[in-house]
Amino acid sequence: MPRNNDPLAYAETLRAAWRRGEPFINIEYDIVAPSRALQSLAECLEPWCAYRYDVGQSYEWGLGCMKFGRPLLPLLDCLKPTYWQYFDQRIYATLRAAGYQAPHVHEPPVHHAKQSALDYPPTCTRCGRRLPMPLEEFRQRKPVTCETSGVISAAWVSWCRSLAL
Ligand SMILES: [Zn+2]
Ligand SMILES: [Zn+2]
Repeated sequence: MPRNNDPLAYAETLRAAWRRGEPFINIEYDIVAPSRALQSLAECLEPWCAYRYDVGQSYEWGLGCMKFGRPLLPLLDCLKPTYWQYFDQRIYATLRAAGYQAPHVHEPPVHHAKQSALDYPPTCTRCGRRLPMPLEEFRQRKPVTCETSGVISAAWVSWCRSLAL
């Protein structure tokens, strides 16, 4: 999740990295990966690799700790940036279409600092804006957007809605 409020920042950062044409490992700010994990990814001959991490109910692989090898870069560098919560699925769909079903998964899982639901305040699932509503209510009504929350101004709601187009 980008630390600033630009919902496209994460996708744009990834696209810039793909366009540089050099393989890289993406590590999100709340992932704690030991140096041996990074070394294992860097030395692996597979083009697409990832570590799993705790996402609340289970350990899953994701963008949080993922290597993009050279063969993947030209497949991805034309992807149109979208809000980060949609962008990962777009990446995986693009890679699947090119014959990459799933990344090569390395073990054991790396540490995810934000693994508890309590670490996630209510935020719009579309634009990421913090929603002034009780966490319990937010969790029961998931997914909640600016639009469905009923607590966000109309002007912001229309901007948020435009992100899905
Ligand atoms: Zn690998
Ligand atoms: Zn929103």
